[in-house]
Amino acid sequence: MELQSKIPSGPIEKKWDTHRFEMKLVNPANKRKYTIIVVGSGLAGGAAAATLSELGYQVKCFCFQDSPRRAHSIAAQGGINAAKNYRNDGDSIYRLFYDTVKGGDFRAREANVYRLAQISVEIIDQCVAQGVPFAREYGGLLANRSFGGAQVSRTFYARGQTGQQLLLGAYQALEKEVARGGVTMYPRTEMLDLVVIDGRARGIVTRDMLTGKVESHVADAVVLGTGGYANVFYLSTNAKGSNATAIWRAYKRGAAFANPCYTQIHPTCIPVGGDYQSKLTLMSESLRNDGRVWVPRRRGDTRAPGQIPESERDYYLERRYPSFGNLAPRDIASRAAKTVCDEGRGVGPGGFGVYLDFADAIGRLGAATMRERYGNLFEMYQRITDEDPYQVPMRIYPAAHYVMGGLWVDYNLMSTIPGLHVIGEANFSDHGANRLGASALMQGLADGYFVLPSTIGHYLASTRLDPIDPSHAEFRRVEAEVAARTKQLLGIDGKRTVDSLHRELGRLLWDKCGMARNAGGLREALDRIPALREEFWRNVKVPGSDGELNQALEKAGRVADFLELGELLCRDALHREESCGGHFREEHQTDDGEAKRDDERFAYVAAWEYAGADQPPRLHREPLSFEYVHLAQRSYK
Ligand SMILES: Cc1cc2nc3c(=O)[nH]c(=O)nc-3n(C[C@H](O)[C@H](O)[C@H](O)COP(=O)(O)OP(=O)(O)OC[C@H]3O[C@@H](n4cnc5c(N)ncnc54)[C@H](O)[C@@H]3O)c2cc1C
Repeated sequence: MELQSKIPSGPIEKKWDTHRFEMKLVNPANKRKYTIIVVGSGLAGGAAAATLSELGYQVKCFCFQDSPRRAHSIAAQGGINAAKNYRNDGDSIYRLFYDTVKGGDFRAREANVYRLAQISVEIIDQCVAQGVPFAREYGGLLANRSFGGAQVSRTFYARGQTGQQLLLGAYQALEKEVARGGVTMYPRTEMLDLVVIDGRARGIVTRDMLTGKVESHVADAVVLGTGGYANVFYLSTNAKGSNATAIWRAYKRGAAFANPCYTQIHPTCIPVGGDYQSKLTLMSESLRNDGRVWVPRRRGDTRAPGQIPESERDYYLERRYPSFGNLAPRDIASRAAKTVCDEGRGVGPGGFGVYLDFADAIGRLGAATMRERYGNLFEMYQRITDEDPYQVPMRIYPAAHYVMGGLWVDYNLMSTIPGLHVIGEANFSDHGANRLGASALMQGLADGYFVLPSTIGHYLASTRLDPIDPSHAEFRRVEAEVAARTKQLLGIDGKRTVDSLHRELGRLLWDKCGMARNAGGLREALDRIPALREEFWRNVKVPGSDGELNQALEKAGRVADFLELGELLCRDALHREESCGGHFREEHQTDDGEAKRDDERFAYVAAWEYAGADQPPRLHREPLSFEYVHLAQRSYK
């Protein structure tokens, strides 16, 4: 396997424009002769499917929900970044690029990040044209707020429902194309494998989730916009259905998996409430614009927050990071919360919580302004905890939230399997070892609306593809494998539920490969995961049958994949003998407890190649070079 990043030459500001000019085009009249499969209808997949169809391609779009409108993207709360500089506070494409490279702890590709910053401004225009109701200032201009890791206000938002509004925009565009006949939509259909013929991605095998029917779909190119895999940790802020199956099956067919251990732990989630909890809830980072994070100065202080005087509080982010304060980036804010809780200064049941306090902002701006900015988030918090954040501080704790790892892609968003393109959270491309807030929506939409629609044309125009139909022997072979696996899962009839095995995996990963990792813990996880996987295949109980809606069966297939992916995560974390962003190795820290990179040895993307069921995966390295933002110890002090 060879990793060719295909980064265009020339000055960074010109790379994308030059590349767009140099790429081959598909003649408008020829576009309808091509069929493109898009798996995923979230912001990345939905935007891509709609745009490809508008361009004239025949698109087949798949999702496992009953409607594209229910993709996990709908949950995004806080906002989307763009370098519009509407606030005239010093923002620019270059600054967004700089912040993102630095925020990702110098483990992202400069050229991709620069392109992302350039395209960010077009995304806002596109979404406004679609009618997305971004918040506006009194005078009518689009409003902005700040997110972590930036000293400018560049985040566009729609209260705490930005993802929902953006997804409705993409969904409208998609449905327009469905009505026109350019997109055929396949809801409640799960991709269970990728079909590679003559070294190229030529289609997928799916299972109809209502009838169990296994079917093949042929295409000239396949796009995966299937989201992230933070649910490998069982408890995460992701939608319960988010999973790794599509990218994992593609990995096993030859797509390299990049940086699997780079997980984003979000600092502001509602703390875990009990052993049988199945989901965690995010409190958007936007709240840190007005909320102040603190814990008591004294260990074991159990007084109610209102009874702890100012002088006995530790606003630890403001103290440790005076320049960025409460808006320190996520990895840093999460670790700082862990540190104070490990010191015994955490609050709430079990001591795994810190306060996010709005008293100052309410005093300064009034409760009505808070309601306008964050009303739905405050309401959500109150419903879940039965505490009123207008009266008492929120309690928050870090939780698994996003994955920077994903399938390796080149500058054209193509994986190591020719014809297989990967977009949105499913790829690894732009965030390095830590993603800054409000930049996932930006990346998903940049990929879906702008980058992929150009680059996929180049692939199609430069590739000779033989006609193929679903009766091809390879499709038949993969269909048989998919059906056999389903039968196997249903036939085990053991004693443990899928959830209990998933929960065990999740706890293990959280403890050994979560906010902090060390070699001993990772080795222990690498010993225990194969045993757990063996137990799964011997002792799982999947009730029901195949020819009906069977959620236990769906979950079982996904957890079987998580049990393999979890091992790769730990393997990647163990090999990376440095700390960077969301990957914090306890052995590698500065004297004041910050992440210590090793640029000499680890300034590369780790891309893993599947080598067979009983073989360790092969590691390939894509070296990263930093010409524009010079390698430096990250500081937010
Ligand atoms: C609570 C929360 C709040 C967030 N807030 C923000 C924010 O304010 N700003 C920001 O920038 N980011 C935010 N994020 C991150 C952001 O929402 C996600 O990274 C982004 O929406 C992912 O979009 P996507 O299109 O890549 O994937 P998704 O929206 O997850 O879509 C995946 C799609 O793939 C389909 N799919 C998956 N597997 C299969 C399969 N095997 N077969 C068929 N279909 C499949 C699904 O049905 C779905 O349609 C937030 C995340 C969370 C969890």
